[in-house]
Amino acid sequence: MNSTFLDTPIEYLKGIGPQKADTLKKELSIFSFGDLLTNFPYRYIDKTKFHKISEIQGDENFVQIKGSIISIEMIGKEHGKRMVATLKDDTGALELLWFKGIKWISSSIKLHEQVIVFGRPSLFNKSMQISHPELDSINATEQIHLSKFEPMYNSSEKMKLRGLDSKGISKVIKNLLEHPQFSVIDTFPLSLIQKHRFISLKEAYQLIHFPQNLEQKQKAEFRLKFEELFFIQLKILQSKLFRKINTQGFTFSKVGEFFNEFYTNHLPFELTNAQKKVIKEIRFDMGSSKQMNRLLQGDVGSGKTLVALMCMLIAKDNNFQSCLMAPTEILAQQHLQTFKELLKNMNMSIALLTGSSKQSERKIMLENLVNGDLDIIIGTHALIEEKVVFKNLGLVVIDEQHRFGVEQRSKLWKKNILHPHILVMTATPIPRTLAMTFYGDLDTSIIDELPKDRKPILTSHRYDSSRLQVFGFIAEQIRLGLQIYIVYPLIQESENSDYKDLMDGYESIVRAFPRPQYQVSIVHGKMKPKDKDFEMQEFASGKSQILVATTVIEVGVNVPNASVMIIESAERFGLSQLHQLRGRVGRGAEQSYCILMTGFKLSAEGKKRIETLVRTNDGFEIAEVDMKLRGSGDIAGTRQSGVVDLKISDLAKDGQIVMLARNEANLILEEDPQLYLPQHIPIQIQLTKNMQGKSIWSKIS
Ligand code: ADP
Ligand code: MG
Repeated sequence: MNSTFLDTPIEYLKGIGPQKADTLKKELSIFSFGDLLTNFPYRYIDKTKFHKISEIQGDENFVQIKGSIISIEMIGKEHGKRMVATLKDDTGALELLWFKGIKWISSSIKLHEQVIVFGRPSLFNKSMQISHPELDSINATEQIHLSKFEPMYNSSEKMKLRGLDSKGISKVIKNLLEHPQFSVIDTFPLSLIQKHRFISLKEAYQLIHFPQNLEQKQKAEFRLKFEELFFIQLKILQSKLFRKINTQGFTFSKVGEFFNEFYTNHLPFELTNAQKKVIKEIRFDMGSSKQMNRLLQGDVGSGKTLVALMCMLIAKDNNFQSCLMAPTEILAQQHLQTFKELLKNMNMSIALLTGSSKQSERKIMLENLVNGDLDIIIGTHALIEEKVVFKNLGLVVIDEQHRFGVEQRSKLWKKNILHPHILVMTATPIPRTLAMTFYGDLDTSIIDELPKDRKPILTSHRYDSSRLQVFGFIAEQIRLGLQIYIVYPLIQESENSDYKDLMDGYESIVRAFPRPQYQVSIVHGKMKPKDKDFEMQEFASGKSQILVATTVIEVGVNVPNASVMIIESAERFGLSQLHQLRGRVGRGAEQSYCILMTGFKLSAEGKKRIETLVRTNDGFEIAEVDMKLRGSGDIAGTRQSGVVDLKISDLAKDGQIVMLARNEANLILEEDPQLYLPQHIPIQIQLTKNMQGKSIWSKIS
């Protein structure tokens, strides 16, 4: 972009005085010409088509009609006063209605003259009408031709008071585009522009605001989306490249006695090929003398924990300590148990540090950490605290559900003289284009295979009315010696009605499954950690057959003997959350089931979520559907990550362009990592400009 011109303060634009400038700054953060230029329409009204009155149905869409007004009438008095006009074309007639501005409008209407009417029709008392339509005389069509696709801009009440409604904004943008000095310099080399048949950047800006037709709008969008996504990918890839060149890491040169002993004597099952492949990738990174920054993706139940554990054994073989950070206390405890069980016959020392660790224990633990007596520490974000000091931390594993912020994670980097190796594990798969953006500077390993003995979970949808049958099914499974989860939504911890549902549900289950024949446990967020722990233990050890819980059990909990997951009010959960919950069963060799309970009334989206889950067990596919349904901005945690502030692209919809942009950014960096070549200088300048005033968000682990 031509920096000097576009950096001009907004008040210097024709049509914008100090008051308008002030409003634009406060309401839309528009400070400069450039800011205004990138204030894109949120949609367009298509005025390229004319509708016949006979075709119009009373729906939400705008219509444009050519006709003539054959009569005008005033109806009602005082506040009820309105003006009704009859518009006629060669197919029929409808009513136009005004409640305000009557005097002015009635004086401007000329009966029986051709006009163009634009507005949103509605059906009222069986007659079609349009309230407050726009009216243009046919003579004004020249002006209409200038913009047959009318841009619509976001506005607020305050802006409207200052004449900055959608039309007002459109007018000042027009002033900007028509400014004699308006110019935009293309950042891309000619070869790239030709390859993708891009229109020029200047043209793209003109057409995004004032396209004449759909094709122009699409061309402009493609160019600007590519531009936006390209610079994001370039930034991510360049920082990844530089980090790899610059960030020294510990060299784990050997795979020694600890790893080998575990592998030969204590591994409870054969690793899947995918697990082997992933361990190899991680081993290679940790041996390379550069800091590892790797994302480990795998579906629920694919065995990521075991991979993490084996990597920690490699750390131990090289005299390093490891830590594993989990998003919740329950999950951290589970990991501790898993690790203790798997390592029980080996000389490894492990401890758990969470917010509820006792002071006395904590003190000993921290001492052991500093003097090197502890090999592995598992915990929650309590691990991040400055008091937690290691003798020699070499590997950090983060088991997350998009729950740790960038800042939080980066604190773990600083716990040794060199940065420890970092392995980030996601709880459920994330769509590829999101991973490229939110974890784009990490290397990726994917476990794309479940252990062989797994039978796919059978998922079904039941209405609340068939609860008795569901209870019958539960009893049957318990007779077979299996265990049941029943999960209630607790969307907000403070939501008391949710607790009531949970407790009512618990009571009815205890009634249906009474002691002493049955034992029912309950776990929820309001319980003391000690009680939670006790109840979880009862279930994990098989003493209780049914666990009634909230989503506290969502992540990672592992009770292989549980074969049924019942989810109450399933429509209230998000798709990936449902998949996570379902993943709590199907961990043993038994056939497992997931039952989604809902009422009869379901929203279209709720229905789609339930259908998707019933149809497939594939977490990668579910993640894609989830993204399409919710849009990328809503995917858990990505918004809070603050990684991207997109003006025109949508990661959920523009996956193709993300891919294309990443590809091109890669090609350019391969040839010219520093962007020193003459044809890349404009890119370099723009990149630097984009970075100004922003934190280095691409350091995301
Ligand atoms: P996730 O990837 O969801 O974190 P876990 O690591 O909790 O999955 O593993 C799920 C279950 O699968 C655990 O009970 C684990 O012991 C078991 N498991 C892991 N790897 C294998 C394997 N190669 N073969 C059989 N079972 C495995
Ligand atoms: Mg896990």
